[in-house]
Amino acid sequence: MEIRSLDIPAEVRDFYLSSGIGNLYPPQAEAISKGLLEGRNVLAAIPTASGKTLLAELAMLKSIARGGKALYIVPLRALASEKFDRFREFSGIALKEGGVKVGISTGDFESRDEWLGSNDIIVATSEKTDSLLRNGTSWMEDITTIVVDEVHLLDSANRGPTLEVTLTKLMKLNPGCQIIALSATVGNAYEVANWLGAGLVLSEWRPTDLMEGVFYGGSINYRTSQKQVHDASGDDAINLVLDTLEDGGQCLVFESSRKNSVGFARRAGMKVAGLLDKRTRAALDDIVEQVIEAGESDTAKVLAQCIRNGTAFHHAGLNSAHRRLVEDGFRSNLIKMVASTPTLAAGLNLPARRVIVRSYKRYDPNFGMHPIPVLEYKQMAGRAGRPHLDPYGEAVLIAKSYNEMEMLFENYIEANAEDIWSKLGTENALRTHILSTIVNGFATSRDGVMEFIEATFFAHQNDTWGIVSVVDECLDFLREKKMLQGETRLTATSLGKLVSMLYIDPMSAAIIIEGLDKATHVTELTLMHLICKTPDMRQLYLRAGDYELINDLVLSRKEEFCEVPAPFRATDYEWFLGEVKTALLLLDWINERSMDDISKVFNVGDGDIHAFAELAEWLMHSLSRLAAITGHDKAGMAGSIEKRIHYGARQELMELVGIRGIGRVRARKLYDSGLHSIEEVRKADPAVLGGLLGPRTAEKLLREIGARPGIRPGGGTDGNPDPRTM
Ligand code: ADP
Repeated sequence: MEIRSLDIPAEVRDFYLSSGIGNLYPPQAEAISKGLLEGRNVLAAIPTASGKTLLAELAMLKSIARGGKALYIVPLRALASEKFDRFREFSGIALKEGGVKVGISTGDFESRDEWLGSNDIIVATSEKTDSLLRNGTSWMEDITTIVVDEVHLLDSANRGPTLEVTLTKLMKLNPGCQIIALSATVGNAYEVANWLGAGLVLSEWRPTDLMEGVFYGGSINYRTSQKQVHDASGDDAINLVLDTLEDGGQCLVFESSRKNSVGFARRAGMKVAGLLDKRTRAALDDIVEQVIEAGESDTAKVLAQCIRNGTAFHHAGLNSAHRRLVEDGFRSNLIKMVASTPTLAAGLNLPARRVIVRSYKRYDPNFGMHPIPVLEYKQMAGRAGRPHLDPYGEAVLIAKSYNEMEMLFENYIEANAEDIWSKLGTENALRTHILSTIVNGFATSRDGVMEFIEATFFAHQNDTWGIVSVVDECLDFLREKKMLQGETRLTATSLGKLVSMLYIDPMSAAIIIEGLDKATHVTELTLMHLICKTPDMRQLYLRAGDYELINDLVLSRKEEFCEVPAPFRATDYEWFLGEVKTALLLLDWINERSMDDISKVFNVGDGDIHAFAELAEWLMHSLSRLAAITGHDKAGMAGSIEKRIHYGARQELMELVGIRGIGRVRARKLYDSGLHSIEEVRKADPAVLGGLLGPRTAEKLLREIGARPGIRPGGGTDGNPDPRTM
């Protein structure tokens, strides 16, 4: 089907023609025949890189041409940025004055982002969309097209319920709205399509062929053929990497853990280095410099060493600058191999000639090592083959025996992806969503709540009689904790409304309020531990050797905790020590311990530290608001700690870190040299500042605070890429 033949505005047609897209891929054509351009709902369950985004773009642009507005929902922030960058290319399409405008909403939860309403396309994560709905954002009602990317994540225990409830709310709020759902190929895509009232496009078509095989006995074995791989290194996976590189391709290697991905990138790098030409080596050295500039931790050093050799690793422990350098270096074909944890499979567009699944098992704290789902394998395999660049893609599993090879063929390559199942039916999942449903007027009674649940994917898959008692338990909990009131007619109390807007689990709010009630000797440790006790906080696990150290601390500062469980209740006590360990990491962060030290002591990466800090900032903000509404006097103290978490610094630095471009490290240098305030910096000798920060930074700083003419005065951190590490 030709782009020219589509019923779309001429400006949109010309945009695609000028970017070299003249014909639709077969699944895209099928979506058109299912009414995509006539406003019908469509679920496209097709492999990665088969043009799902383009399909959504056509529907969005057609709707915008008629004065509509589109919301594009993604599961991850990194994906939101990727889509935002892509849609910004539409600014030149003259469908309306000023071109198509795009906005991105990934910021704080307790906000409406009303300013975003002037955009034609708004990209947001599902959690952010849910929070915008909870906060009563007015433009939500103007949405005419909703795109849900990766809708198969309905199956995720963490994210699925929010996605499901958010979609249900949006469908109720905007009944005439067009929904485009994009999914990996899952077993029961038809069920999701039925729930959404959508036409289903189900296809295995890919723009590049995919060959799936198992490496065993020195060869990649396909069902009907074999390819021998030269043993150049004594390691199967490294041989597979070298084989790809010699053929002009690149490799993605999926590992089961961060440690393994780092180890493999190092080992493979020693062999890959020998294949690099002079020009590539010079370009890699440039990347290495940027890696060092973006963080001086041990991780950065190892990453730099790998990149120098043409390899890299990628996992959630990397800071965002490092992750971006790895992704860009790979896309530009300078980094030849990336070893990654499975996080990379689930979203980012980073295709490679050959995908090697080095381990099909994964560690889970509850189940130990267990095989990954077929869906996950398919998503990894789907990364193989760069459209228009590679003649084909290859996905290779590795077996140690003939039997294992057969098993891998049957259980992965020839298997269908699993069905997906709603995860909404538990008290933990329902509690928060029932509260928000009542706060936002989607239900005003127990029957109303049940009616709302009837519209969810859960009810589409299950009889709801089984869930009535769970709903009752949630309602009892919310009444007992004074977030809801009334029996037949349910209304939210001001506490309930606040909890919903703060976007925290009502259980977290209850824990915080009870803790504040009980606390007698409140210190930073008290409040930090309190937020670490909530289910919204991520926990550090205890490692061998931690017990004694943290136990000693607890014993010496017992009165600072709201409550200490009895040590003979071993599981509860260990869990408690894990919470304290997390609180200690955060205290180190706000007391300016170096990233490198924190990484070593707590065995975490820079990316983890930022993730902990971000969660803690949101929860400390919530604590401060809850303290205020319940009449506790710790709201101010929590507010100051919240700010310190944001910057990772002591109170005395707060004025200096407020200056754009001055993070905690630079602020500390200024402070320790006797410059304690903006005023003192302004009066300081520029040569001294230059000596402290380097001449360029000093110059920038002086401009920023208005001590150089022609530049706006004032502080603020807007636009500062990452104030915490500077
Ligand atoms: P998906 O969202 O399914 O992973 P994308 O929509 O990102 O895939 O498409 C992958 C690549 O294919 C993009 O670079 C896109 O521009 C290109 N593409 C999509 N549709 C077509 C088409 N009909 N013809 C040529 N290239 C296309």
